[in-house]
Amino acid sequence: MHRSELTVDLGAVRQNVRTLLHALDGSELWAVVKADGYGHGASDIAGAALGAGATALCVASVGEGLALRRDFGGARIVVMGPATTNRDVAHARDAGLELVVSDTDIPPGVRVHLKLDTGMGRWGLSELPVPPVEVVGLMSHLATADTDSAYADWQIERFRQATHGFSHLTRHIANSAAALRYPAARFDAARCGIALYGISPFNTDPAEDGLRPALAWRSYLAQVRLLQPGESTGYGRRFVATVPTWVGIVPVGYADGFRRDMTGTEVLVDGEPRRAVGTVSMDAFAVELDRERPVGTPVTIVGDGLLIERHAAQAETIGYEIACGVNSSPARASRHVTGG
Ligand SMILES: *Cc1c(COP(=O)(O)O)cnc(C)c1O
Repeated sequence: MHRSELTVDLGAVRQNVRTLLHALDGSELWAVVKADGYGHGASDIAGAALGAGATALCVASVGEGLALRRDFGGARIVVMGPATTNRDVAHARDAGLELVVSDTDIPPGVRVHLKLDTGMGRWGLSELPVPPVEVVGLMSHLATADTDSAYADWQIERFRQATHGFSHLTRHIANSAAALRYPAARFDAARCGIALYGISPFNTDPAEDGLRPALAWRSYLAQVRLLQPGESTGYGRRFVATVPTWVGIVPVGYADGFRRDMTGTEVLVDGEPRRAVGTVSMDAFAVELDRERPVGTPVTIVGDGLLIERHAAQAETIGYEIACGVNSSPARASRHVTGG
């Protein structure tokens, strides 16, 4: 038996694409598949998203773009991060990737999106130059689409004013949160990542926005033991039994993406919610059981109704970070794709 099993449901991805297209009401949907498709597998997600109506792929680096180019010969691929070296630019040109440029130094012979900083305070020009012929798009990025609507509205308005005279170029500012909840942010295209995977950009239940999680992560009880009062499990003796307590050991740890700060979160033991207890180690964590369970009992870490958002809340982070952290290396987990 594998230590754990990852299942990616492409049917859910296609449904999420349709939900986003509906919300976008005519604007294009560009599928953001950086960081190996937020841990889900970039190529599989890209294929499903393009098949369901997305019209471009977005990644963070030229390397990610080149890897996708092998599987998607004709697709538009936009590299959102800065292409810093001449070598990157040459590779992008040869592979027909589009680049995002945040200064006035525009490389020749490659299609470019100019990035305007409307308030993210990270990459971007503070003012648009007259765009040379290489420029096909104008973009910006929202800092608070998931938290502060007044600031997001202000950024959207700044973008609208700054790009007003350039309606012949593709203008794009929306991420998932804005695509779902800010009609004014739609412009010509939206760059959506997290929602494709059925994870909430708002760290709430994705069903509120009509999204369906694509990832399931399952393992099993590899060891079951009865702790007597005063006995503990794991490093540092963080969990000490006060009454006789059954615990199960799951062969998944922080090297697999089950982070140390997920102690206290829930997993499903044969469908029943049970608490992860004690210190998470590199290759295992413990779960408190209500009774003796056989070795081999299935444990769901994500899926079957248990949301990544639940773990994110426990770890005081966002679903994005949990998803990107899942280790899908075949040396650690088996991976399956359904609905393809
Ligand atoms: C990652 C990223 C996105 C996608 O954001 P989501 O919240 O995952 O939809 C969009 N635009 C840029 C510039 C990004 O870096």
